[in-house]
Amino acid sequence: MIAIVGAGISGLSLAYFLQKQNVPYLLLEKKENEHSPGGFIQSIREKEYLYELGPNSLLCDDFLLQWLNELELQTEIIEANPVSKSRFVFKNGRYQKLPQSPFSLFWSVFFSWEAKKQIFREPKIKSKTHPNETLTEFFERRFGREVVDYALEPFVSGIYAGNPDELLLKYTFPFLAELEQKFGSVIKGLKKTKSLGRKKSISFKNGMQTLPKKLAEKVKITYCQDGVQSIFRKSQSWEIITAEKNFQAEKVVITTPAYIAGDILQKIDFSLSETLQKIGYAPMVVVHTIYYKNLFRKPLNGFGALHPHKEKLFTLGHIWSSSVFEGRCKDNEVLFTSFVGGLKGIEKTFLDDNTLMSKVQKEIREIYKIDSLPVLQRVTRWQKAIPQYDKFILPAYERLQSLEQEGLYVCANWKDGVSVADCIKKAYNLAQKFK
Ligand SMILES: Cc1cc2nc3c(=O)[nH]c(=O)nc-3n(C[C@H](O)[C@H](O)[C@H](O)COP(=O)(O)OP(=O)(O)OC[C@H]3O[C@@H](n4cnc5c(N)ncnc54)[C@H](O)[C@@H]3O)c2cc1C
Repeated sequence: MIAIVGAGISGLSLAYFLQKQNVPYLLLEKKENEHSPGGFIQSIREKEYLYELGPNSLLCDDFLLQWLNELELQTEIIEANPVSKSRFVFKNGRYQKLPQSPFSLFWSVFFSWEAKKQIFREPKIKSKTHPNETLTEFFERRFGREVVDYALEPFVSGIYAGNPDELLLKYTFPFLAELEQKFGSVIKGLKKTKSLGRKKSISFKNGMQTLPKKLAEKVKITYCQDGVQSIFRKSQSWEIITAEKNFQAEKVVITTPAYIAGDILQKIDFSLSETLQKIGYAPMVVVHTIYYKNLFRKPLNGFGALHPHKEKLFTLGHIWSSSVFEGRCKDNEVLFTSFVGGLKGIEKTFLDDNTLMSKVQKEIREIYKIDSLPVLQRVTRWQKAIPQYDKFILPAYERLQSLEQEGLYVCANWKDGVSVADCIKKAYNLAQKFK
């Protein structure tokens, strides 16, 4: 029997893959609440409005698309509107389109000539091996400072709400380190592997939570009050303690956030527990704002816009949700999903809801030159949203690797990838080990 702690997308997918292989499992989740199942994946449908409180989209390759078909979700899938390939970055007081190809990079005014020269020179820059190189160090070394400030930094804020000066390349974007090692250059590597462009960004008619809801119909979840409290070794198996009942399992897979894993594993290794509790998490506030469409002089044709820290705006950026996926609000309206906080703006996450909403309104008013109030606004707070793959995570990885020999595994978003797609693939790969 394999016990899985936590029924977010990682735990649910793992249970599904084990079930398919006829491997007995026990999927334990905290007592059912209004948002479960799905952990961070939460979608709220209120009449014509669909709010994503957590992830907004899933980046699918062929493997994932096939899996969604296997789950009979093909009629629920909606693909991102082609216009959402355009992404904007706030630079020098206005939104500018991020170049998407070498040709558009050459002609675009987004980067200075100096920066463009440095980008085109990247294939000639010698590769280096730096085990603990940060994202900023890597990008500055290969592409120069302007790319760090106006492409890397806003992009990393968008995904990790983090600080590229702290995040480690090898753990955050391992494929970039591999491209450098294998092809001597990121650009050459991307061309050779055509790693870009083969993936589709998708969601579902009723939002991202459609996926965990579907998985929850297919697997068995055991809900327990307050969840798993602790785990320890007892003779040849693992003893799993909950408020109501104890369970035994040969193997255990932890899928909860790191600080909860720290609590649960205290009896196994106190110092590991402390290390896990110290893993950094970026806080984030998500603000949804709806306006009448006709207020905007230009259509919101794109995925949205990122706001580099240097530009000192209030939010990290806005997703133009109603431009990306259909059915997010009424046809005569637009829905903005804005992100506030992250590691570089922790203090903003302490503001009360009214202040947050009015600051987001002010920013939208100024950038988009509108002067009306929104139709609707709502605020969602994540105190610990995204785990940070920085140097403090390394001691935990080392110790956890040795625990695998005793049958304790981690399949969580704080190891080997934070995206929903990464979580599903890690679950699939781990399930293969248990065949
Ligand atoms: C605001 C935001 C936006 C994001 N946007 C995107 C995006 O657009 N695209 C993308 O790919 N990713 C995005 N992500 C990241 C992605 O959503 C998460 O990394 C992913 O959903 C994590 O899933 P998980 O199952 O690993 O963990 P979780 O979702 O944290 O699931 C863990 C589960 O464990 C349960 N649990 C906790 N304690 C216990 C216990 N003691 N016992 C039993 N169970 C317990 C929890 O209730 C939960 O169900 C976003 C994240 C956030 C916060």
